[in-house]
Amino acid sequence: MLEATGLMVFYENMLALNNVHVRCKAEEIVGVFGANSAGKSTLMYTLSGIMEDIRKKEAMAGGERVTILGEIRYQGRDIGGIKPSSRARDGIILCPERRRIFKESSVMENLKIGAYLATPSQAKASLEYVFTLFPALKNLRKRVGGFLSGGEQQMLAIGRALMAQPKLLLLDEPLMGLSPLIQATLVRSTRIIRDQKKISLIVTEQYARPVLPIVDYAFILENGAAVLEGRRGELLDNPDVRAAYFGVN
Ligand code: ATP
Repeated sequence: MLEATGLMVFYENMLALNNVHVRCKAEEIVGVFGANSAGKSTLMYTLSGIMEDIRKKEAMAGGERVTILGEIRYQGRDIGGIKPSSRARDGIILCPERRRIFKESSVMENLKIGAYLATPSQAKASLEYVFTLFPALKNLRKRVGGFLSGGEQQMLAIGRALMAQPKLLLLDEPLMGLSPLIQATLVRSTRIIRDQKKISLIVTEQYARPVLPIVDYAFILENGAAVLEGRRGELLDNPDVRAAYFGVN
């Protein structure tokens, strides 16, 4: 489905991603875990193409602040130079960190904005799907985004991403700042999305523990480099890894 190799991203002289290799197969959930500043958002921006956009804009303004190296293959094609809008059309949809919903628009408007890549019948079916997955959103559909709780905003952000017909959904820290109860709901929904929609997902999080039960494969990022990777079972079978990275004894 997607394979990125030798990814290096520099912000000026600062190395934000150091020779990262990430792979996500069809219908897999891949976890990318790492502390603040480990490079999770940089990775998501690079895969979705936003980083390439930032690089181009900087270059047009005469600067060369951002450098991106490495290869990203998606569905057998090299997509490294392809702009984010084309990647989205091909099914790579980013649900960014800190939700980024339109706070002045209603729930319904936010969801409709997400449907910009969908046909009318896809939009209708996806809307029904989102309301089945997150019934709370249906009751709140006229509410302005900014008046939703953090958990509701995250549901809306995921719902909006689903409206864009993803084949590979990139969830950047979806659990950030939410209560354990809401986190559990969102983790469960993530697995349901994969099972029902048969799509692939890459999920970043600072803490592995809440997401680990649903991932097929995981990478640990430290200072921009993948220091550890493996299938969930392999990682959990290693007692040192369990204690050091997953807070599980
Ligand atoms: P967080 O959990 O805090 O979001 P993260 O793992 O997503 O962290 P990134 O946001 O990818 O980490 O940042 C990786 C490194 O790159 C950090 O040291 C950060 O300060 C730096 N960085 C990120 N964006 C920029 C930028 N636009 N210009 C310069 N440096 C940046």
